[in-house]
Amino acid sequence: MQDKELYEKLFGLKAPWKVEKVDLRMEESKVTVVLTHEPLARFPCPECGIECAVYDHRHRQWRHLDTCDFITMIEADVPRVRCGEHGVLQTSVAWAEARSGFTALFEALAISWLKVAPINAVSERMKISWDEAWGIMERAVRRGIERRELVPIEELAIDETSFQKRHEYVTVLVDRKRGVVIDVLDDRKKKTLKDWLESNKDQLSEVRSISMDMWKPFINAVREVLEGAEQKICFDRFHVASHFGKALDKVRAAEHRALGREGDSPLTKTKHDWLRTKANGGYKDKRSFLRLTRMNLKTARAWRIKEAANGLWSYSYRKVAERNWKALLGWLARCRLDPMIKVGRMVRRYL
Ligand SMILES: [Zn+2]
Repeated sequence: MQDKELYEKLFGLKAPWKVEKVDLRMEESKVTVVLTHEPLARFPCPECGIECAVYDHRHRQWRHLDTCDFITMIEADVPRVRCGEHGVLQTSVAWAEARSGFTALFEALAISWLKVAPINAVSERMKISWDEAWGIMERAVRRGIERRELVPIEELAIDETSFQKRHEYVTVLVDRKRGVVIDVLDDRKKKTLKDWLESNKDQLSEVRSISMDMWKPFINAVREVLEGAEQKICFDRFHVASHFGKALDKVRAAEHRALGREGDSPLTKTKHDWLRTKANGGYKDKRSFLRLTRMNLKTARAWRIKEAANGLWSYSYRKVAERNWKALLGWLARCRLDPMIKVGRMVRRYL
């Protein structure tokens, strides 16, 4: 009696379903839980939801999460109903998706493992075949696609990122307004992004902004697929700032090497001080660092440029912003710091 109630709780069973019997086979390390429904229960038609009388049953079984290292199976005669309008149809059950041989909880566990481990490792570990693991993954991807097709994207962010060590780039697409990753593409090539944009055009019909790095393949892909791309592409401050940060760090590394040869370099262990911004922690209280910024150093010059660039994002008037960016670009062109000059050229190209 008690183990029936335990499994009813474990599966979250609701009336009219209940556990009929629990069949425990010690020698096979397997437990089979047989479910049944109350004999006079009525079930909703899967098409229209109207409650109908049971027509007949189909016997089915599902693999559930193991309980105490026992492979756990659920078996039930699932009713088919006869709806006046839609005919005889198989009803759905709360614990599994249609046509899946696994319960929803089992699939959820498999999916969380499939995110971090290859398919063959997951299939081995969960004692299912490779095809079954693949089927679980495919159903999850399809559910994700079905869910997201309904939502128009207003602000799209296209980001490239590389897996550390492997140096392989992927493109990550984010719905910025909802803060969710919509898709991950295998590389950062123009054709790959273009194909994705083509096949998601409906969802992008109301897109207002597309933020990205100043990266030609992305820019061209968007230009070729979306109307009014010029008004929508936006090079956001974080991507732009990261170019200034990288250039500054090159200046610092080179100067540190040169000074190190002459003796003690004042730049020792200062890498992160230079890269900080007011927004990400600030440097105000670091008096020794501020002294450094006033020294006659190439790094200090590059730093002043980077700081000025970070201050150029809050203008409301286009003309004023443009004038100030052009002033900064003039400064960059004359600064005699190669990495900084290169960033200046890039910004000028896309201003
Ligand atoms: Zn119906």
